[in-house]
Amino acid sequence: MVDAVVVGAGPNGLAAAVTLARAGLSVQVIERNDTIGGGARTSPLTLPGFLHDVCSAVHPMALQSEFFRRFRLEDRIELPLPEVQYGHPLDGGRAGIAYRDLARTAEELGVDGPAFRRLMLPLSGNADQVADFATDALLHVPRHPVTVAKFGLRALEQGTAAWNLRFRGDVAPAMLSGVAAHSIQHMPSLSTAAAALSLGAYAHGRGWPVPIGGSQAIVDALAADLERHGGTIETGREVHDLSDLTPAKAVLFDTSVPGMLRIAGKQIPTPRRGALRRFRFGNAAAKVDFALSDPVPWTHEALRRAGTVHIGGTRAEIAAAEGEVSRGRHAERPYVLGSEPTVVDPSRAPRGKHVFWAYAHVPAGSDVDQTDAIIRQIERFAPGFRDTILESSSRTAVDMAAYNPNYVGGDIAAGAASFWQLVKRPVLSSDPWRMGGGMYLCSEASAPGPGVHGMAGWHAAKSALRHTFGLSDDVELGPED
Ligand SMILES: Cc1cc2nc3c(=O)[nH]c(=O)nc-3n(C[C@H](O)[C@H](O)[C@H](O)COP(=O)(O)OP(=O)(O)OC[C@H]3O[C@@H](n4cnc5c(N)ncnc54)[C@H](O)[C@@H]3O)c2cc1C
Repeated sequence: MVDAVVVGAGPNGLAAAVTLARAGLSVQVIERNDTIGGGARTSPLTLPGFLHDVCSAVHPMALQSEFFRRFRLEDRIELPLPEVQYGHPLDGGRAGIAYRDLARTAEELGVDGPAFRRLMLPLSGNADQVADFATDALLHVPRHPVTVAKFGLRALEQGTAAWNLRFRGDVAPAMLSGVAAHSIQHMPSLSTAAAALSLGAYAHGRGWPVPIGGSQAIVDALAADLERHGGTIETGREVHDLSDLTPAKAVLFDTSVPGMLRIAGKQIPTPRRGALRRFRFGNAAAKVDFALSDPVPWTHEALRRAGTVHIGGTRAEIAAAEGEVSRGRHAERPYVLGSEPTVVDPSRAPRGKHVFWAYAHVPAGSDVDQTDAIIRQIERFAPGFRDTILESSSRTAVDMAAYNPNYVGGDIAAGAASFWQLVKRPVLSSDPWRMGGGMYLCSEASAPGPGVHGMAGWHAAKSALRHTFGLSDDVELGPED
């Protein structure tokens, strides 16, 4: 008998396990894959000496979330910030460049600089407060109501037909849409606006770091802390049924909603089970990793110092591409999210060589290889990119789902990040992690949704401490000196 079992060793599962183990409980983590990490694995996918992030690559939430702030991740691993947090190329050699310094960003934006600054400053100046609100269940009394009100008003503007009213040029709106598109939804919508405003605020808050050694460094730090506090991790074992598990007072699922229902459905009270069956998946991502002989030859020089590049052109072009995907079609010029980690971490490739990480948005269940589409989009803003490619490795949406069963149909958020599914994720409750019968959902399928923030795991573990164990949920997480 153990106190708690966690099914799945992704960042949320490990955050839950660390919290429970630090509260003095015995904790066992079981992972189907041969290595830990879920969406935060790093692996040599192309040529010897090249290290690629299999899923996540850039980590604003690993600096900004309350869980990682308390865990003091930045004291445990190296999380350097690129000089340019994110960049957004446009035709004609132009680009929007987001520095951590909002004033510098606005200054280079020209005509729309003041409007962009007025939009972002109340949020980026309070980025921790934005994160506290955006990474909790949406149904709760906010700790920082003034910041939340400012966020809400701006979301109503950027999430509706009013989204262009404050701008005169095309660079600032394109930058916002590039960030908004992270949520893989038609736009404008409240959920894409929320992504633009929260992630945008973090860029000028604590920044968008790229870990030395890759995303794996984050989960390795969590696993090391867990093991120091007596927790154990078993890899290479898929859980199919509760009877596969050591008896435990609480079971926490770092799985999809259907994954949890398959394993523990009978244990979950009927009304909640009904609500869970209504949870919907969204569209998908198809990923391509490149080993490069040289850095990406971006026409706009500042993009060569960017950790992240949003590739898709103007606001109208991105909205059209995302609209195609939301109607179940492949966009001819898809929105592409790109990152060149070697800008800050040369250890990812042999001396002088580079890696590039990219994914395109595609309809759920797509089996179309996006390598050519992605190369064409990058070539548009970095002519000669094709000639730098030494090797590439592609995963369609179908491959993504096979790689991780949480990504049903290739939905990397394990559930559509639509506005309503952010409000009720996965159910409408101020404690949406608690399923009843000692079962808890702790994955990105629960609030606050996707991202390497550990918050779903932390919230689920805190709920278990209160409800199953009758313990205080105020657990110290910082490193022991
Ligand atoms: C291509 C891609 C790019 C991304 N980019 C970023 C980014 O740059 N920045 C960012 O912050 N986020 C990014 N994300 C999102 C981020 O990776 C996820 O939101 C995050 O990993 C979710 O963590 P999790 O612990 O909830 O689930 P996961 O990371 O998916 O981990 C779940 C784990 O549970 C295991 N599991 C599932 N079912 C079972 C079972 N039955 N038995 C045993 N084990 C099981 C899985 O194998 C997996 O290891 C990206 C995701 C993808 C796919």
